[in-house]
This record gives sequence, C-alpha cells and structure tokens, in this order.
Amino acid sequence: MMIVMHAEATQEQISAVVKKVEASGLQAHLSRGAERTVIGVVGDSRKIQPENYTHLSGVEQILRITRPYKIASREFIPLDTQVRVRDLTIGGRQIVLIAGPCSVESRSQLLETAYAVREAGAHALRGGAFKPRTSPYSFQGLGEEGLQYLAEARAETGLAIVTEVMSVSQLPLVTAYADVLQIGARNMQNYNLLHAVGESHFPVLLKRGLSATIEELLMSAEYILSHGNRRVMLCERGIRTYETATRNTTDINAIPVLKSLTHLPVILDPSHSTGHWAYVTAVARAAVAAGADGLIVEVHPQPEKAASDGGQSLKPERFAELVRQVGRIAEAIERELAPVPQPTAISVP
Ligand code: PEP
Ligand code: MN
Repeated sequence: MMIVMHAEATQEQISAVVKKVEASGLQAHLSRGAERTVIGVVGDSRKIQPENYTHLSGVEQILRITRPYKIASREFIPLDTQVRVRDLTIGGRQIVLIAGPCSVESRSQLLETAYAVREAGAHALRGGAFKPRTSPYSFQGLGEEGLQYLAEARAETGLAIVTEVMSVSQLPLVTAYADVLQIGARNMQNYNLLHAVGESHFPVLLKRGLSATIEELLMSAEYILSHGNRRVMLCERGIRTYETATRNTTDINAIPVLKSLTHLPVILDPSHSTGHWAYVTAVARAAVAAGADGLIVEVHPQPEKAASDGGQSLKPERFAELVRQVGRIAEAIERELAPVPQPTAISVP
C-alpha cells in the first residue's frame, strides 16, 4: 500500500503517519518527490488496513501496490536505483562491464586476467572462490585463498571484486574481501541466504534461477530489499528451455520487462546464457541494445586449460573486441561505457 500525502502536508503529519504504520508492526518507506511525499507500507499483508489511514490529516489518497513484490516494484520507486560499488555507479546512463574467470584458479591466472580485462576496458573483476558445481567431483574453488588473490588483484588494478557466496556460513569470510556478493542461479531461492545478505548492506548481484520466472526473481530480490539492503542488482543468465544447441536460452525479453517492472539495475551474463564463447559477443551486443545496465562476462587467458566453464570463456583479445563493439552500441542508444577505474593502492614490487 502507498500512502500519498498532500503537497502541503507538514513534517509532523508525515511523521504521525509513519509512527502509526510502525506501531502496527509494518515498515514505512518514505519517498520524497519534488511535489509530494509518498509513504510505502510493506510487511505482513494481514496487518495492512487502508481504512485506518484515510482519515489521518495530511493524507491525500491510499493506493494499492498491485505487484506481489513491493519495494522492488517501479510502482513503489519510479526512478532507477543506482548502486554504488567503490567508484562505480551501476544503473545510471553508463554501462558497467564485469569480467574475469569463472573460477579463481591461481594467483598468476587471476592477476594476468585482471590486468588484461582492465586493459580491455572492464570496470570490475569477477571470479569464484566458492563454486557451485553440478558434480561433487569437479573443482569446488580455492576458498579463502581465492578471495586473497581477488583482494590482491583489486589492490593492483583498482577493479572492484564480484564473487559468489554460497551459504550463510560463508558470509563473514566473503564480505571480508568482496565488493559485490554474487548469489548464483542455484541459490536464487535460498531464502536464508537472501535474508542474511539483506542484513549485510553489501551490494548484491542476484542471478535468475535456472527455471525461475521473472516474478520469482523479483520476489527473491524483495527478500533482500525487505531486510534493509537496497543495493540489489539483477542478473539474467539464461533459462532452461527445450533448446539444446546452447547451454541456456538468453531471455533478452527479460531486460526490457525487468526495466519496466523494477527500478533495480539489470545485468546480462552472455557467458552462462549461451554456454559457448562464439556466441557471447553477439548476445552481449543484443543485451546492451535491449537496455542492460551492464554485462558480466567470463574471460580466461587460456580457456582450454580452465578449471570451469572454459568453453564459454573469451580470450582477453576477444573480450577487448566485445568492449569496442558494445561501446558503439551504447553510443547508438545514447549511453556510454563507464570510465575504467584506476588502482588506489601503490603496489610494492
Ligand atoms: C558463475 O557465475 O560462474 C555461475 C556459477 O553462474 P550461475 O549461478 O548463473 O550458473
Ligand atoms: Mn561460470
């Protein structure tokens, strides 16, 4: 429910409404527009009774939020959310590129990739230290050692770190190193994890589940938002369909649909959505043309030797070509690529 205050409503009247909302065990989210203040009310739907608010002074009208997700909806927050990650802003006019290996495999592999992707124009470095693998016998990631290499790569290159957290118990360790917490497709409905990252106030990249609908993705985002964390970015990474020519099917539609339903930034992952390096650049171009706020792309200096997802990883020079191409697409739709960050730490040789 949204309580729209009169344009002339006083601060006391606004505070009185907020107090009443909170006294009923509900949350009040204030949004102050140029003209009027709107108070969004969320919480246990059984406790929301619009008739209790209509007569309060300063209240102009009560509107229902028709979507099942509330804080995530554009009805609730009409303007785009911009998520700050170190010096980057994601969700504005500038497009952000996150690139790096599927898994952190060694110090040299990660540093070589980090320098190469920054040189090519990436803004943030991806790399999994904890890997959700279909087989328990596949490489599971280097754990804390991998996080240490990511932190070293950040200090060397200035690139923000995006890395996956798979469980609530890993959160203290991963938040000690990461700039953005990736929640993988397989964990999109791990509600305990969503609750915990919602309390962490860390930027989150929430990936769409393998067979999740757009509404289910937004409901998962709502878990994080409703626990107090507004720094949520959504990631379309392809969905399972009957098609077998590609690993997944890129749901390009999801980009404009999400942009209309939610104010949260939308990132596309053309690596997992296609599963083959040869298709990655074409789908990356399509994503930028469709309105994505950023891309997350797997890059490996020697894809044939990668411990995971080598077949869908670009070599650095192909990634550099992707950056040039998506830069031109961005210009065509009056956007641009964000400037490449510079290192903040002085490295000791
Ligand atoms: C990944 O980013 O390497 C990954 C495992 O992605 P997803 O959760 O989308 O499968
Ligand atoms: Mn991967």
